[in-house]
Amino acid sequence: MPSLATLTATTTGLPCREEPAPFFSTDPNERHYAARQCHRCPLLLACQQHALATREQHGVWGGVDFEARAMGCGTERGYQVHLRRKQEVCPRCQAVHDEAVEANRRRLLELAHREGGTVRGYAMHRKLGERPCDGCRSAQGRQSAKRRERLRAEAARPCAPVVALEPAEPLRGPHAGAHALAIAS
Ligand code: SF4
Ligand SMILES: [Zn+2]
Ligand SMILES: [Zn+2]
Repeated sequence: MPSLATLTATTTGLPCREEPAPFFSTDPNERHYAARQCHRCPLLLACQQHALATREQHGVWGGVDFEARAMGCGTERGYQVHLRRKQEVCPRCQAVHDEAVEANRRRLLELAHREGGTVRGYAMHRKLGERPCDGCRSAQGRQSAKRRERLRAEAARPCAPVVALEPAEPLRGPHAGAHALAIAS
């Protein structure tokens, strides 16, 4: 079987030769685009096998984004790597992350419901975009009532008496009659 180098040298119309930039782009969306272009390449399988055999860590080969593969794209680890590198998160990592966040919110909601509904459960319902259940609504209502009660009590509390300040020492000389602090500023 001829090497990939020989095959690419003797084959015309390779997408990665027509438009090479996206194949080694740092932008996962551009590499995703490049991987789709490979599907019209006659060397797809040979190229992919070569990249697997040589453990490629960068770029797109045979329709596979080897950079994404190396960094764990499609997992929570991949999502964290995108963030660390200050990259735009790829759709696969975003989907996995969103799923994990939703699963965590569902877990917290379940705990809240074991207690008959809580304020945190109310917040989880909201974050999940659903109408809070009666138990969580009551818990939230009780907390709001307590907060209103506290604010009312604070408003009704008498103010601390105003302490008269000692008059500042009068200035002498050319500034006589002016306030000392006004001059200092
Ligand atoms: S399969 Fe390989 S040779 Fe073909 S376009 Fe993709 S990267 Fe290039
Ligand atoms: Zn990713
Ligand atoms: Zn609830």
